[in-house]
Amino acid sequence: MFDFDQIPVPDLTDPNFAPFWEATRERKLKIQKCGDCGTHRWPPRVTCQSCRSTGLEWVEVVPRGTLYTHTTVGRATAKGFSNTPYTVGFVTLDEPSNVRVIGNVVDVEPSQLAIGMALEGRFVPAGPSGEMTLIHWAPPTT
Ligand SMILES: [Zn+2]
Repeated sequence: MFDFDQIPVPDLTDPNFAPFWEATRERKLKIQKCGDCGTHRWPPRVTCQSCRSTGLEWVEVVPRGTLYTHTTVGRATAKGFSNTPYTVGFVTLDEPSNVRVIGNVVDVEPSQLAIGMALEGRFVPAGPSGEMTLIHWAPPTT
């Protein structure tokens, strides 16, 4: 589906995202949780949107959710994304349900996509040396 070795690699050491990338390398999904009020947050932020605290921890969550919305890309815009069409989805996690994450939706024909369909995360090495691990979303196998 993708030229995985051509996909641009972000700064994996960016302190706001490094714990996320370290987790995906271990095939885990981690998101931020406020250290004061406990509100989960994604994408990473310096302050909690509920209480403005800067206290935070990273917690592992189960990579399962439902499709909130999606778009199918029909025209390549960058190296590594030339095998069109591909679908990008916004996935509402089962728990915590206030968090949505973005990722490619795979193993579903675009015509078969349905809002609310169950999806599970799959961890996929990418980058010129496989130095980052992406999370893709696909219908559950179990
Ligand atoms: Zn908070």
